Amino acid sequence: MFMPKRVIFEKDAFLYKRGIELYEYFQNKDVEIIKLNSNRVQGIPGEDLAEKYTEGKRTLVIGVRKTLKFQTCKPSAHYQLPLVTGCMGQCEYCYLNTQLGDKPYIRAYVNIDEILQQAEKYIKERRNDITIFEGAATSDPLPVEPYTRGLAQTIKFFAEQPNGRFRFVTKFTNVEDFIEVEHKGHTSVRFSLNTDKVIKSYEHFTPSAGKRIEAASKVIEKGYPTGFLIAPVFMEGDWKNEYKSLLMMLRDKISHIPNKDISFEIISHRYTINAKNRILEIFPETSLPMKEGDRSFKYGQFGYGKYVYNKEQISEMKEFFEKVISTYFLGSKILYII
Ligand code: SF4
Repeated sequence: MFMPKRVIFEKDAFLYKRGIELYEYFQNKDVEIIKLNSNRVQGIPGEDLAEKYTEGKRTLVIGVRKTLKFQTCKPSAHYQLPLVTGCMGQCEYCYLNTQLGDKPYIRAYVNIDEILQQAEKYIKERRNDITIFEGAATSDPLPVEPYTRGLAQTIKFFAEQPNGRFRFVTKFTNVEDFIEVEHKGHTSVRFSLNTDKVIKSYEHFTPSAGKRIEAASKVIEKGYPTGFLIAPVFMEGDWKNEYKSLLMMLRDKISHIPNKDISFEIISHRYTINAKNRILEIFPETSLPMKEGDRSFKYGQFGYGKYVYNKEQISEMKEFFEKVISTYFLGSKILYII
C-alpha cells in the first residue's frame, strides 16, 4: 500500500467529509502533515531536479477539483475523468515526467460527488450515444484508492449509467479495493504489462509482472472487460523470448477463466527530445535506449516529433505479437500494435 512521506491538505478539502476523514486518518500515521491556508500547494522540499522529483512522488495532496470542465480524451474516450493527478510510480519513461512540473506530487480529489455529477451532465448532453470516460489520463489512480475510494464510487456510478462507460489503466495490484463493486460491464480495466527485465530497469516502485497478472486474473474473474497494454515494448537483446515468456505467464494464469472479454494494445517505445532531456536530468544513469541514430524520426499528431523504431522493426514486432496472441489467446482482440 502506498504510504506517502507527507500529506498536504488544501484548505477546501475540509469542506468535504472525505477530506476531514483523511485528515483524522493520517494523524495516527508516521507521515508529515501539512495543513494549507489556501489551495496553493507548498511545503515540498528539494534542491535539485532529482530531489524535487523524488520528494514530489512521495507527497500526497488532498484537494478539491475546481475545474469541472473535462478535457477531451481522443481517440480512446470522449472525456478524461479527473479523480487523481500524478502517480507514486517512478517509471523513467513516463509521459507524466514532462507534464506535472518539477515536483510531481499526487493530488487526489475529495469532491468525487461533484465530479460524477458533471460526468452525468456530459452523458446527458450526448443523449442516446454512449459516452466513454478515461480515469487514468493524468495518473495511475489505483495506489490512492485505499484512501479515496474514488474508483469504487465511480464504478458504482457507471453501473447505473446505461449510456456511460468508464475505463482506466494501471500498473498496480490492490484490486481488492474495487472488485466487489457491482459494475454491470460498464467499467473496463486495463493492466499495463512489461517484462520483469523492463520493470526492474525502468519501472521503479511498481509491482512485478507476476503480481500484475495475478491482479488481472482476479479482475477477469469478476467479469470486468479487461485489457492488457503491453508498453513500451523495447526491441532490444532477446526481446522476443522475454515478451513471449510474459505472455505465457499471462496465459497460464487466465486460461481457465471462462467467457473472458480481453483485449490487447501494444505500443513500441518512442521518445521526444524534450522527454529525453527531462529523463537525463532526473535519471542521469538511465539505460533507456535513446540514441537518435538508432531510430526513425516521425512527426506526431500534436506537432512535435518523436523518435520511433524503424519500419522494419515495427513490422517484425507486429508479426511477432499477432502470432503469439492469436495462437495463445483465442477469442481475444488486438486493438492496435504501433
Ligand atoms: Fe507513469 Fe504509469 Fe509509471 Fe505511474 S505507473 S510513473 S503513471 S508510467
